[in-house]
Amino acid sequence: PTMYKDRHVVVLGMARSGVSVAKLLHQLGAKVTVNDRKERAECPEAEQLEALGIVVICGYHPDNLVHRDTALLVKNPGIPYSAPPVKEALAQGVDVVTEVEVAYWLSKAPIIGITGSNGKTTTTTMIGELLSAAGMHPVVAGNIGTPLCEAVADKSENHWIVAELSSFQLKGTMDFRPRVALLLNISETHLDYHGDMADYVASKRKLFANQRDGDTAVLNWDDPVCRSIGTELTAEIMPFSLHTRLSYGVYIEPPYDSGTGTNPEETSEPERMIVYRDERLDNGGETCIMPVAELGVPGRHNAANALAAIAAALAAGAPAAALAEPLRSFRGVEHRLEYVCERGGVRFYNDSKATNPMATTMSIGSLAAPIVLVAGGLDRGSDYMELLPIFRDRLRGLVALGETRDKLVSVAQLAGLERVESVQPEEDAEKTLQHAVRKAAAMAEPGDIVLLSPACASWDMFPSYEQRGGMFKKSAHTI
Ligand code: ADP
Repeated sequence: PTMYKDRHVVVLGMARSGVSVAKLLHQLGAKVTVNDRKERAECPEAEQLEALGIVVICGYHPDNLVHRDTALLVKNPGIPYSAPPVKEALAQGVDVVTEVEVAYWLSKAPIIGITGSNGKTTTTTMIGELLSAAGMHPVVAGNIGTPLCEAVADKSENHWIVAELSSFQLKGTMDFRPRVALLLNISETHLDYHGDMADYVASKRKLFANQRDGDTAVLNWDDPVCRSIGTELTAEIMPFSLHTRLSYGVYIEPPYDSGTGTNPEETSEPERMIVYRDERLDNGGETCIMPVAELGVPGRHNAANALAAIAAALAAGAPAAALAEPLRSFRGVEHRLEYVCERGGVRFYNDSKATNPMATTMSIGSLAAPIVLVAGGLDRGSDYMELLPIFRDRLRGLVALGETRDKLVSVAQLAGLERVESVQPEEDAEKTLQHAVRKAAAMAEPGDIVLLSPACASWDMFPSYEQRGGMFKKSAHTI
């Protein structure tokens, strides 16, 4: 990073990560220009940056933003590579990176990097809790909230940075090297941005590109794409599996069948254990972490997240004995299958963060009662037919809203559901959602669950999935 002293660098996009990377590069002596297409009135940090001597240009991309002396362009992960300044930089041979790359250059602390299509935030949060419980004082950052550039400042080699990373962030890395890298799963999401699956997988693969001997790659052994990536890595692989007993890694012990009775249901051990095997340890083999049923969050997908978190915590040096307690008390993260309230015998769950069909499928599958689903949102071209089996097997009814409402209604009809409603958009999104919640509550019977798990992003109606989830909770409380 010292190579950018006195050099011109461009930061594209003035979100929180842009502001923080601009300040950091400025401190290193770079001549920083920050540019955002948003109007100045929408860039409240502009003044603060200018006071430091950083050039701020808002409202448009100037033609000469990237010029002969430009040494680096740091782009917001959401800005496409087709944006004119990015194209210009690439054409001129200027390095184009995302903020996490710059954070890596400056970080003394080792990084645990977590990526995957689903479960990133949950697993990242879990790892933070596991390392905290082990007295390791982790810093949780990245896509989850605090930009990595803010998190790495003043952190010594004794800290661990636990970083949630999106494929958009990873696409803009060059030297980024997490000591421990996790790939949780790969599903066909985000295709609108990446164009095709190969590009999406390539972004995820970049997480491992600079790992060396002694680093660890935690991979989902139940996911064929993750497993195939495992064949080409230099790092030590720590696989995890929900149903395969591995000779090395973290897995759920298949039920023990004592073989005495005729009915395996009666003779098998009811509790499945999370165990791992590590020859390097004194006991030279298996260690039981805890029974799966004691995990503080429901569902097989959360068991998978826990296995991955255990693998990462062990790789970072946490003792196995410290892990059970924080996993038992883990209550999940807001907007991820979050319990809201009970009204007239009907329980409400907010899963606003489920922004693709795979996430919604997992969530429905992890709740036991009949479900009235509230779903729909931005149309990103996902295959909603993926939802057909779970709709057929588990739904009492569907209330669809947003851009994808007609597509979801078709799936529900194919699934043979009788209680299906589509909510027409009203003047404001909150009213539409309120309306949907009321319809769902009316469809539900005592003992049922009303679940907001949209299978779609929120941006057709709401500024964020957090706002969507917040409004759902408000509506549920006032039923
Ligand atoms: P991300 O940060 O990757 O978007 P989250 O941890 O925020 O993932 O979880 C979002 C939603 O995805 C959850 O509410 C749940 O429905 C689903 N989910 C969580 N973990 C997994 C997993 N391992 N596999 C599939 N779906 C998952």
